[in-house]
Amino acid sequence: MLDGGAEYSDAEIERIRDDVQILAEISVESYLKKKSEKSFEYPDDEQFFASLLSEGNKEALRADFMHRFDFREPSLKRAVFDKLKRLVMEEMAQEGRTKCELHLVAECDSQNLVLDHIIPLSSNELNKYLRRMTAPQGKKVPAQSFGANHRENFLVACAKCNNFKKHRFIKKEGSGWVIYSFKK
Ligand SMILES: [Zn+2]
Repeated sequence: MLDGGAEYSDAEIERIRDDVQILAEISVESYLKKKSEKSFEYPDDEQFFASLLSEGNKEALRADFMHRFDFREPSLKRAVFDKLKRLVMEEMAQEGRTKCELHLVAECDSQNLVLDHIIPLSSNELNKYLRRMTAPQGKKVPAQSFGANHRENFLVACAKCNNFKKHRFIKKEGSGWVIYSFKK
């Protein structure tokens, strides 16, 4: 956070100013307003996220977790993420979040930390595993847009865990994270 009496060098202030300026140019207000215009593509998707986030309760999902979703074109979300990530990583570092929070692989080492989306910006996992959609010849199963660039949808991950996770979903287990498995 920028308040709390943190000390910044002139160069840092200049860079933060640049980031804020870039965000202003894409119009933060219109970005946030349009975010809520779409919803889950299929009822099964809503049920899946309720089971992932709110113990199967769809009302609780709607009430408490929709800020973690943004169903718009992933390329737009990625462009915003690219502008945001350095600043958000710095804020998280100031909060003491300087180690990998995923711990998905044994080689997890907190090196080359990146900002990671808990709910991926896009994923084809639900098309694959809930709808058994098959890939057209020479192509991948189409992805859907899900995760938001919201602070609560971010965590800090090492490059190894981030590469292992890819666009899969993760689930809280105890105090840690595991890859969500669709195989029952
Ligand atoms: Zn890690």
